[in-house]
Amino acid sequence: MSGLQVSDLTVKYGGAHPVTAVDGVSLDVTAGETVALLGPSGCGKSSLLGAIVGIVDVASGAITWDGDDVTEVPVHRRNFGLVFQDGQLFPHRSVARNIGFGLEMEGLPLDARRERVEEMLTLVGLEGYGSRAVTDLSGGQRQRVALARSLAPRPRLLALDEPLSALDADLRGRLAVEVRDILAAAGTTAIVVTHDPSEADVMASRVLRMEEGQLV
Ligand code: ADP
Ligand code: MG
Repeated sequence: MSGLQVSDLTVKYGGAHPVTAVDGVSLDVTAGETVALLGPSGCGKSSLLGAIVGIVDVASGAITWDGDDVTEVPVHRRNFGLVFQDGQLFPHRSVARNIGFGLEMEGLPLDARRERVEEMLTLVGLEGYGSRAVTDLSGGQRQRVALARSLAPRPRLLALDEPLSALDADLRGRLAVEVRDILAAAGTTAIVVTHDPSEADVMASRVLRMEEGQLV
């Protein structure tokens, strides 16, 4: 099958209070599809996303993309992107240089980088904002920059961890529609974590519910 396959994945944390954060989760995401992951705080959503993109260690199980096992592939070689709740933009970089960050890391030449950054600015509705300081942007604009930065290197999968949670309710509703449309326009396969069922319905074609480390 084409896309993401997660098989019997388990994530454990050690320390004074060992916990099994993800407990034998299996799921498929077809290429081009957006799936939402819904569940209460502490049920393991971020741990599951982290394991999929490669920033959290896997105790057992497997992650494959188009049938290739990527479980042991380092994060920067997986070509999976991650967007956090608060965007985590670089405050000293302009909007354009934030969006171009991944492309710079890849060593893409300046002209190609500029062109891709312009495409991304258009995609997220921020034409003309390239030279702005990210510190001057609204919360919603910042999240659109974060989304553009993640999409710029054309990730085959984008994981979004509560991308709208830091925004106020009114803006959240509108941006949920925008994020859905942006992901569709980019043709990106995505998993979006939320604890808001209506947001999940807007953004995803399928909603998975997680409780205590398992899909239910
Ligand atoms: P969610 O994103 O659904 O809120 P998390 O994946 O963040 O859930 O957390 C799942 C469980 O794993 C929780 O019990 C949490 O306390 C624990 N946990 C998360 N990250 C760590 C960590 N780095 N070290 C130890 N325990 C952690
Ligand atoms: Mg979380």
